[in-house]
Parts: sequence; C-alpha cells; structure tokens
Amino acid sequence: MKTDISKQGLDVKWQDMTIGASIVHSGGSEQFNTGEWRVDRPIFLVDQCKQCLLCVPVCPDSSIPVVDGKRTDFDYDHCKGCGICAKVCPFGAIEMKKGVK
Ligand code: SF4
Ligand code: SF4
Repeated sequence: MKTDISKQGLDVKWQDMTIGASIVHSGGSEQFNTGEWRVDRPIFLVDQCKQCLLCVPVCPDSSIPVVDGKRTDFDYDHCKGCGICAKVCPFGAIEMKKGVK
C-alpha cells in the first residue's frame, strides 16, 4: 500500500493506492518540480545585474541560486513566476515574460 505522495502517480495500480486515495504524507518541492505551474517566466538580464542580491531573499521558492556570492540564473524547476523578484530589483535586471512558461 502506498503511503507517500511522492510514490503516487498515474503509473500506480489501484491495488497499490491508499484506501480512499488518502494522502498520508505530504510532498514538497524536493519531490516535485513546482515550476511546472508557472505561467509567466522571469528572465535574468545579466548585463544589468549589479549583484545587490535584493532579489534572493524575497523569492518564496528559493529559486534564485547564489554561487560564490553571486546570483546565477533562475531555478526554473521550482520558480513559480510570481514576479516578486522583478518588482524588487532596482536595476531592471529581471524581465517578466507574460504567458511564457
Ligand atoms: S518569479 Fe517568483 S518564484 Fe520565480 S524567481 Fe522570481 S520571486 Fe522566485
Ligand atoms: S535585485 Fe536585480 S540587480 Fe540585484 S542581484 Fe537581483 S537581479 Fe541583480
């Protein structure tokens, strides 16, 4: 019997599902690419970025990786396209592309 949401899916036989398809344990973004929900896509305009890092802590999905003290391109597997980072950036280094997944 399946007890973990990360093991649920279209490939699971009905015999293996929990009674009533109950979800016994919740999943998180480590198990799922929550970026699949994205409707608008942030674009990192690297030439305009001053590496102030203001965008990093405001991202609700921790989707702006920092490597050696510098932000890098977005983690599109988990970015949900909320646009907060683009609103916060004082240098116009993040452009939101509407309707681009
Ligand atoms: S659009 Fe939202 S989720 Fe995506 S990187 Fe920016 S703040 Fe994070
Ligand atoms: S807020 Fe803008 S300028 Fe600052 S690190 Fe982020 S993208 Fe670069």
